[in-house]
Amino acid sequence: MVEELSPQCSAKGCRASAAWQLLWNNPKLHDPQYRKTWLACADHRVSLGAFLEARSFLREVTPFVSADDASIS
Ligand SMILES: [Zn+2]
Repeated sequence: MVEELSPQCSAKGCRASAAWQLLWNNPKLHDPQYRKTWLACADHRVSLGAFLEARSFLREVTPFVSADDASIS
């Protein structure tokens, strides 16, 4: 059985479809190779990215293609 999820932006209160995934790591909490994933719509890619960048957590931003490519956590 396939779940029909339409992945949404991780920004608070935003229901837009995800267009980007932001991969990040908090060195105080995570192993160095571990990646948390936030999804972002086009509008929130910059603000979510800036939030992570300001804390030196941001590792990579990639286009979000499908839920199969991401382990959302
Ligand atoms: Zn959004």
